[in-house]
Amino acid sequence: MTKRVRTRFAPSPTGDPHLGSMRTAIFGWLFARSNGGSFIFRIEDTDRSRTVEEASQKIITALNWLGLDWDEGPTVGGDYEPYYQSQRLDHYDKAIKALLETNAAYRCYCTADRLDGLRERQQDRKESTHYDRRCRVMTDAERKLQEAKGTPNVVRFAMPFSGKTTIHDLIRGEVSFENNLIDDFIILKSDGFPTYHLAATVDDHVMEISHVMRGEEWIPSAPGHIQIYKAMGWTPPLFAHLPVILAPDRSKLSKRSGAASALDYQDQGYVPDAMVNFLALLGWSLDDKTEIISRTDLIKHFSIERIAKSSAVFNIDKLNWLNGEYLRSMSAANLTDLLLDYWDKHPTPGIPDSPDKGYLLQIVPIIRDRLKTLADAAPLIPFFFTDVVEYETIELVQKKMDMEGTRTLLTASLESLQALDIFDAVSLDKALRSLASTHNVTVGQLLGSLRVALTGLRVSPPLFETMEILGRNRTLTLIKSAVELLSSS
Ligand code: GLU
Repeated sequence: MTKRVRTRFAPSPTGDPHLGSMRTAIFGWLFARSNGGSFIFRIEDTDRSRTVEEASQKIITALNWLGLDWDEGPTVGGDYEPYYQSQRLDHYDKAIKALLETNAAYRCYCTADRLDGLRERQQDRKESTHYDRRCRVMTDAERKLQEAKGTPNVVRFAMPFSGKTTIHDLIRGEVSFENNLIDDFIILKSDGFPTYHLAATVDDHVMEISHVMRGEEWIPSAPGHIQIYKAMGWTPPLFAHLPVILAPDRSKLSKRSGAASALDYQDQGYVPDAMVNFLALLGWSLDDKTEIISRTDLIKHFSIERIAKSSAVFNIDKLNWLNGEYLRSMSAANLTDLLLDYWDKHPTPGIPDSPDKGYLLQIVPIIRDRLKTLADAAPLIPFFFTDVVEYETIELVQKKMDMEGTRTLLTASLESLQALDIFDAVSLDKALRSLASTHNVTVGQLLGSLRVALTGLRVSPPLFETMEILGRNRTLTLIKSAVELLSSS
């Protein structure tokens, strides 16, 4: 009988939820969702010195933002509560006791000084650094003496001295390690907290995780984990180690190239569907060409077979393009809501506190094609929200024109616009083109002056549509101000 699919996302709350971590979450989530399984979210906070207070909350916020819902875990609970490892010490104590009883683990009393010296000597001899297993071969009498003295200790796992451990990785196939090359790693620290290796292994078993999906940097730890399962008499879950994510020049990800917090991307105005699409394609593909794939299709088609062995490359241009595509493909109403929400959370210069939704709904269709992120919108539209449009008078004067010619032209546009029956983009287009030709100027010259007069910008949303939204009164007032400025210069 095949096991029901239960995947887990098990971050250590040691810092910001960066994109690599979110990619791991997405793969686990997609695999669970595409198999009708459960997605478990567990916080691995047993390394007390590295645990950062707000980090768990930030991870929760990032998962919520990306729309990665979990069936069990913090905030929702579940059959295997609690989901914070620091609250599950009894589970680990039980396992450690069992491992000590069968000599699959042992107490190590070596001092930090001794271990430092050992490491230095090994480094001097250019050897790989490893624990020399001194406490593994202690006599009972020696051990009793240490206990009597109350020497602080850790518990180490006793790796087999010979043989190999083979991981049957669902992505990489069989990967074997010589047991004698693997350190007797610590499973319980002197502060009474288990290490990740023990805690994750115990929890994956207890929580009935079927598939462990995690970054490939954990492959070297996997043989140790498999040996713990073996020593406990447990069946290990299946493993899928996900390809690493590199910068475009194949170097390690830097803050600028994806190592930043997922929440920074939220702040910069990326949208969750685009992020999920983008991250899912960092190491997985539908075929050799599909770039845009909806959440529903991801769930429908996701498979471990199509996860790549080779590293994935983080390309910010691709993310920008994808995000723009998502913004363009949503309805104006949805995009309006997103912008309102975005400005609400990120007060933006030029955008009033509560912009009128109906007004914004008119503006959105004329700017959406120019957006890569939600943050791109504000600089295009501040003039819609202010009575004072600021510019230098000289900016009104276009190439090969002078002040006087510009003034005449703008005065003529005033008359032409006043006379229009219907003040809409189509009529404005027609009237202003004909005006340009009557005055022997190019449409570019005329619109260039009008653009500055109406928006204060050199690059603006399409001008006829902009004028239609501003309305006749406001358009005429702004052109009149421009004419006055030109007259007084
Ligand atoms: N707690 C580990 C981390 O944050 C997770 C490794 C795993 O998924 O097993 O990297």
